[in-house]
Amino acid sequence: MDGLTTIKVGFIGIGNMGWPMAMNIFNAGYNLTVFDLDSVRSESFAVETGANSAASLADLADMDFVITMLPNGHVVREVLLETEDGAFIKNVKAECVVIDMSSAEPTGTVALGEELVKHSVILIDAPVSGGVARAELGSLAIMIGANDHDILERAKPLLRCMGEQLFETGSVGSGHATKALNNLIAATSFVATSEALLTAKRFGLDLNTFIDVVNVSTGHTFMSDKVMKDHVIDEKFSTGFALGLLVKDVGIANELCDAVGMNAPLSKLVHKRWQEALDVKGFSADNTEAIQVWDGKD
Ligand code: NAD
Repeated sequence: MDGLTTIKVGFIGIGNMGWPMAMNIFNAGYNLTVFDLDSVRSESFAVETGANSAASLADLADMDFVITMLPNGHVVREVLLETEDGAFIKNVKAECVVIDMSSAEPTGTVALGEELVKHSVILIDAPVSGGVARAELGSLAIMIGANDHDILERAKPLLRCMGEQLFETGSVGSGHATKALNNLIAATSFVATSEALLTAKRFGLDLNTFIDVVNVSTGHTFMSDKVMKDHVIDEKFSTGFALGLLVKDVGIANELCDAVGMNAPLSKLVHKRWQEALDVKGFSADNTEAIQVWDGKD
């Protein structure tokens, strides 16, 4: 633990996911400095934990690692390269390793990596799966894209504070591609399970019994097991994953299908269904609230 206090880690984006992930890094003993556009969040985090709070991106200049956990790849690029004063990129020390754990567009990630390396900054993409619950437990699945094996090995102890399963998916951008395609599957599964559930309701089936059957039968998925009872049937709608972020992921996956010439009509339809829900509910609604739109209630 003592050795870790000399390793400086900056964490940008203390949101639903970033907060518990940064908490696990701090608890492991790293010298942590957090930054969020919403300074109330970063200051509250610092007060609660004892970590440092950065007043500006320039305060992250001498970090060994900088982790980004931001809404999308455009925001990551803006924060690192395109702020008006260049606060991060003009001041960052050479050999800093940036780990982008956001869910982002793989082609944008490849381009970002190429630009950062001109400033002697190394980019790794390491998006996550498991949601807020597993972020809190430090048991996320992490998909890692890296061009340099030695630097990846250097980053692994830090990643292990946040995740139990670390997958090396290939070069920079491959983590983000893997993540988008995983979320395409999850989003498709939620639409399918919702349509079945709404049909079950209209037929007069008991919904708890219906999901119990699905969960020990061939329709069983993460959505039926972890989401339908806890968030949909009970109408809690509190997964902590914003509808707008999920629609972003399905959009990224569809762009990827197009980019490689994959004919994926179901994926297009799934994107359309989620977009309909987004148009009604708005970006910040919980993603599970989409079922209310498909039910025709909203
Ligand atoms: P969130 O909206 O709760 O958090 C994002 C944070 O980034 C906010 O605190 C916001 O103030 C901050 N931010 C925005 N713009 C900024 C800027 N320019 N500079 C500094 N800070 C800025 O989102 P989240 O749910 O924590 O998701 C973060 C990322 O993780 C997204 O890419 C999302 O797709 C992905 N993700 C989310 C989940 C989930 O279950 N919530 C699961 C896996 C992956």
